[in-house]
Amino acid sequence: MNATTQSAQPAQNARPIVRMDKLNKHFGSLHVLKDINLEITQGEVVVVIGASGSGKSTLIRCINGLEEFQQGTLDVAGKTLLPHGKGGQALQKIRTEVGMVFQQFNLFPHLSVRDNVTLAPVSVRGLGREQARDSAIRLLTRVGIEDQADKYPAQLSGGQQQRVALARALAMEPRLMLFDEPTSALDPEMIGEVLDAMRELAREGMTMVIVTHEMGFAREVADRVIYIHQGEITEQGPPEQLFDAPQHARTRSFLARVL
Ligand code: ADP
Ligand code: MG
Repeated sequence: MNATTQSAQPAQNARPIVRMDKLNKHFGSLHVLKDINLEITQGEVVVVIGASGSGKSTLIRCINGLEEFQQGTLDVAGKTLLPHGKGGQALQKIRTEVGMVFQQFNLFPHLSVRDNVTLAPVSVRGLGREQARDSAIRLLTRVGIEDQADKYPAQLSGGQQQRVALARALAMEPRLMLFDEPTSALDPEMIGEVLDAMRELAREGMTMVIVTHEMGFAREVADRVIYIHQGEITEQGPPEQLFDAPQHARTRSFLARVL
């Protein structure tokens, strides 16, 4: 959280972990992302806000190759994705470096909590079963649900399931974490426990891109807030600037509706 302000100035030549260059994305005739230029530095926490349908999910889904794009380039964790899904080898590498947490937790319903967390490390990273189980318990402890390890997802509350999803993503030791409205499907009383786990992760220096409508949380953890309107980055800046002194009329009217 605000890591860039705590440490000395980041090196001028620090390589961004994400670099989008004039990225354009269409769904058929719908132009969803328009000339997006975006650099994200290691350790940065970026919150993406904007109206429903503005392209927030599509933007972060492009970052881990869940969506192809038609124009531009995208470097993620040192690998380059090209338009139309070219650069397929990069994709595999990127998927192991980038974790994602979705609005719907997407846990494997037939696997215990522990097995949800160990599956990818064992099958993708080749971690030994025992080592993966130890690491799973450490991760579940970190998100405060080690006592749920032997249960199945359906036996957990939404807030607990989302924390399992977070532990599962972290088990791959990602360099970058993407969150797409991680608390939007939760009952209000469970939002806090998920935001707390994310806050802790930010404090530990994880690089994070978070789509959320939780503006208080955004103000607190973001190094930078990006406002997207109809597929374009209209405005971005530190939270105090974006929330307290937005420069654009569109940002102001969006914030007036959500704050
Ligand atoms: P947000 O996350 O900001 O609500 P999305 O990125 O999900 O917005 O969607 C941006 C636009 O792209 C919307 O108009 C949406 O309907 C459209 N869209 C999203 N996914 C698809 C898809 N798979 N096929 C066609 N259109 C899509
Ligand atoms: Mg969305």
